[in-house]
Amino acid sequence: MKPIDRFVNFLLDKPSDGRVSRQEFLELTGRGLAVGTVGSVLIACDKKPESTASAVGTTDTPSGPVPKLPATSPPATVPSDPAKPIELEQIKAKTEQQEAPTPSPLPADQRVGYAVVGLGHLTLNQILPAFGAAKKSKVVALVSGSPEKLQKVAAQYGIKKESCYSYADYDKLRDNKEVQAIYIVLPNGMHAEYTIRGAQAGKHILCEKPMANTAAECQAMIDACQKASRKLMIAYRIQYEPHHKIVREMVQKEQFGKVKSILANNGQNSDNPDHWRFKKALAGGGSLPDVGLYCINTIRYVLGEEPSEVTGYVHSTPNDPRFTEVEEQVNWLMKFPSGVQACCATSYGHHDDKNYKVLADKGWIKMDPAFPYKGLKLATSQAQGKQNQETQHEISDQDQFATEIDHFSECILDNKTPFTPGEEGLQDQKIIEAIYQSAREGRPVKLAVVEKKDAFRGPEPTA
Ligand code: NAD
Repeated sequence: MKPIDRFVNFLLDKPSDGRVSRQEFLELTGRGLAVGTVGSVLIACDKKPESTASAVGTTDTPSGPVPKLPATSPPATVPSDPAKPIELEQIKAKTEQQEAPTPSPLPADQRVGYAVVGLGHLTLNQILPAFGAAKKSKVVALVSGSPEKLQKVAAQYGIKKESCYSYADYDKLRDNKEVQAIYIVLPNGMHAEYTIRGAQAGKHILCEKPMANTAAECQAMIDACQKASRKLMIAYRIQYEPHHKIVREMVQKEQFGKVKSILANNGQNSDNPDHWRFKKALAGGGSLPDVGLYCINTIRYVLGEEPSEVTGYVHSTPNDPRFTEVEEQVNWLMKFPSGVQACCATSYGHHDDKNYKVLADKGWIKMDPAFPYKGLKLATSQAQGKQNQETQHEISDQDQFATEIDHFSECILDNKTPFTPGEEGLQDQKIIEAIYQSAREGRPVKLAVVEKKDAFRGPEPTA
């Protein structure tokens, strides 16, 4: 029996030798023999089985071409598991770059609620917008010293009036059940106090880098969070970023051979001597703990190793009002037990430059720029026959803050140790202090030898 005959029998409720397949139905509707959705045709069929012509034809529009409308919605797989993405139909050929899975954000009532403390540059430009891209996290409270700023930002991000706090009211976060975690985005010298008070208020703590001004403060923060059974993570966004993760894999799999040296630089010309970044009590130091820290932390992450010795040199331009309390620039060397030597530079006095290069015995890996919020670039080089082949790796940017915040939320939801816990921040602080000591004493300073790989990190983040 032809498909058209089976279809007419189907509408007349006559037994046929087979069902009308979806393909046949689409072919028929495509030829203008039926209009509307499957549902509407079946309703027409139920009501008027005798008027086949009007059901399959067009009683309202007896003449003229029938518009060819899609007969069904595009197919989609909708899993009931909230963590699994909805799968849409493929549009692109297999030869084309395929789409990433659709995002699968948690329902709003299941996300971790954050209070963000400090409404300065980083919070307003990066962190609050990043919550819009986050899938497991939401901002539910704000803490600021400025009532006007609080009011304006709360309105922008839909925060309730009663969830806006002054610094004096910070401890009242304890009573806000919507707040599970506190994100501390204050000057470095305030991180320890606000972490300790936040943990005592029963909240998990995500703290901006550098962790604190001294190793003793870092240890006190770890102890306070442990005592309160709260999680502590340092916001090292680079360790949650895809370019750097690929570099780490290339290095650890020795894709370009054994690493010999790493050259790293992170600096920018900073102004305004009145800013807290130039005050020792609030900043802890100058360019080294602020931007130089990225060189230390990223090199440790890429190698998975800890330096056993450092040598440092510090210089500040004489009579420059910016550098009366903190240093302008630092150059330092880190020696690793594997034999890798890392040569690093940081400054508040030179033009913006943020990059590193891994020199291995069969090739090199270059990240330039390496440390901005977006636009990172990864290049590699190795010999191909008689030529050196340089490759630019095209990797899409991700919102580094959203990825990092969601990792912490996942740790809270699944009761896991963060990949960059307080111990990771403490280790960086010990290295910073050793570099300053070396510069002061004019000699290399040894650090405790750490045999274990990734000794201070938690389990690797999921994708
Ligand atoms: P900022 O000066 O723009 O903001 C700091 C906020 O703290 C302001 O809202 C300020 O009003 C408030 N504050 C409260 N008490 C203060 C006091 N006594 N003195 C000065 N300010 C006070 O600074 P920022 O650039 O947003 O940096 C905040 C933190 O974030 C720092 O620890 C910094 O190292 C870190 N940070 C991290 C990144 C990153 O990429 N992860 C980038 C920038 C800054």
